[in-house]
Amino acid sequence: MSDLLEIKGVGPKTREKLFSLNIFNIQDLIDFLPSGYLDFDEVGDISQSESGAYAVGKLNVVSLSKPFKKGKLSIFKAICRDDNGLVVEVTWYNANYVFSSLNLGDEILCYGKIIKDKLIRFTNPIFKKLKDNSECNEFSGLRPIYSTRGMITQGNFLNIIKEALAIFDNLSIISQENESKFGILSYKKAVHNSHFPPERSIIEEARERVLIEKNVRKICAFKLVGKEYPRGHIYLEDPYFLKAALKFVPFSLTESQICAVKGIIDKLVHSKNPLNSILIGDVGSGKTVVALLAAYFAVNSGHQVALIAPTEVLAKQHYNTFSNILKDTGIIISFVSGSLSKEEKYDISLDISEGITDIAIGTHSLLSKDVEFKSLSMVIMDEQHRFGVEQRTAFISKGIACDLLSLSATPIPRSYEMMLLGNVDIVFIEKLKEIDNVKTAVVLPEKRDDMFEYIVTQCEKGAQAFIVAPRIFDIDGIECDSVESLKLELQKKYEKRVSILTIHGKLASMEKDRILSSFKNREGDILLSTSLIEVGIDIPNASIMVIMNADRFGLASLHQLRGRIGRAGQPSFCFLYSDKFASFERLQILIEERDGIKIAERDYEIRGPGELLGESQSGYIGTDIISKKTFMLCSEIASNIDINKNYSLLFECARKFGLERVSFN
Ligand code: ADP
Ligand code: MG
Repeated sequence: MSDLLEIKGVGPKTREKLFSLNIFNIQDLIDFLPSGYLDFDEVGDISQSESGAYAVGKLNVVSLSKPFKKGKLSIFKAICRDDNGLVVEVTWYNANYVFSSLNLGDEILCYGKIIKDKLIRFTNPIFKKLKDNSECNEFSGLRPIYSTRGMITQGNFLNIIKEALAIFDNLSIISQENESKFGILSYKKAVHNSHFPPERSIIEEARERVLIEKNVRKICAFKLVGKEYPRGHIYLEDPYFLKAALKFVPFSLTESQICAVKGIIDKLVHSKNPLNSILIGDVGSGKTVVALLAAYFAVNSGHQVALIAPTEVLAKQHYNTFSNILKDTGIIISFVSGSLSKEEKYDISLDISEGITDIAIGTHSLLSKDVEFKSLSMVIMDEQHRFGVEQRTAFISKGIACDLLSLSATPIPRSYEMMLLGNVDIVFIEKLKEIDNVKTAVVLPEKRDDMFEYIVTQCEKGAQAFIVAPRIFDIDGIECDSVESLKLELQKKYEKRVSILTIHGKLASMEKDRILSSFKNREGDILLSTSLIEVGIDIPNASIMVIMNADRFGLASLHQLRGRIGRAGQPSFCFLYSDKFASFERLQILIEERDGIKIAERDYEIRGPGELLGESQSGYIGTDIISKKTFMLCSEIASNIDINKNYSLLFECARKFGLERVSFN
């Protein structure tokens, strides 16, 4: 599949950034749908916008500076006023063409992030001249906005998409006959209309068609690689194993955990095919210990096991749990991390390749080419709900018929997942306790101070709290709810009463570990964090979770975050702080439901594709989800496709899911 470097304007650096957005080739780019569409008719009153928010302003140019150089940057500023006379400073970097096309007295529309300090400022906004048809007016009507997480500017990303569309060959896996049989749009048209819609009314159908393509391909790719493979590893039947192993676990397992372990072991011993099971249990249901026992069983049969976690923090936590529980068994456990020194990495790789290591725990880097196992038989993937299929293809293309156990808290509906995964065995485990100890409330801005006061008071009594903000730090330092600005705000007010720790993804992983373990040891009362702590983090004493700008998170994430508190069964509180009325209906679902699966289903129901429009303004991410009905359609279409006829396309697709995702991680 075509390399991203084929696109004009994409060099190795940009390619790297695209990789981190999970875009690995041109097809991925085409599939990367806008998170919203901006309509220049929707002009807002910028005096009402918050600092850090995205908005459209209608401005009059009252003064223009000449472009000047600062290092490699060429900077150019325009001072403008809006209709209320408000002064707005607009700055453009490296955009001399803007200078040559703007004149005093021009009326322009600007879209971008508004920063408010002494002045109101736009930096590098997208803009359009009113009553003018010059080249500045490159977009008319609707303008797509992409969730690039700030890594690539909207302008650059737009150009990349345009270039990609120009060289993309629009190869649909669905034949024209099937397109008309199932009454769906032509793929080519849908691709264009979902990136550059001539009008709003056609967006929905176009996007859906692109998503249908993506899902049909995925289902077919799965069918292709999901063909039966013979078992590659032998496990020894040992009737005494479980009884002996359970002695090392410091608590007694629930019936449902025991049942899950027995089921897995039974398949390992008796099935002709490799294990391909997904262990589904809501947040806090105790999946780790089930995985641990399965791993122990494999080691007992002389094999190696790899446990892969989505983040390093979580991998470290698993490493600690495994090391503790298995310390008297003689099992050797290694932690593989991207942040190890070269020597350490070398030593550990050697241990793994010589078979000294029994269980290797780490992130996806464990699957990279540099790590060679001597006798790997089982791979356990934690919280890998979305990528089960893709990862499996990675092992298969490596030629290893590994046993695969995935752990998931099902952020997508069960029925959907079952269909998608087809021939995967699903093992459910029940929640540990059915007591409902976490209360959830939506908090409005006027209660902000009360909320913090309450938390501080509780912490003084021995509680521990997480406060999660959507961002680490705003480049301009203004955005109110970033980890850094909250830190300043809270320290100023409460420094004498509580101690506050902060953590986020930009810290070195040793530093992250240090902070988490000191929080776990109660050396801090409040942990300020990004959603880094979303999955898996286990700090039993924590009983308060605050999520700032909760409207910016998906419900599944919010539910995961809420799962971080009350883990010892103590009464706990989850505060969803939001100033967006429009999202209250969604947040209400979290108050009503405790079951992650039901939450995901209700999220689907209320979030129709229509709601995507304008979502970019609230920063909401997660637009690639299709309804159950559409998914059924995809699966029907897929059954009409001759897998063998499309072998190379599908193999390419499977390879992409598997190999590329893994090796670039
Ligand atoms: P998740 O399913 O979300 O991954 P974990 O495996 O992290 O959940 O388990 C959550 C917490 O419950 C951990 O602290 C774990 O030690 C504890 N735990 C797991 N099983 C049991 C059990 N049977 N009895 C008591 N505590 C348990
Ligand atoms: Mg877990």
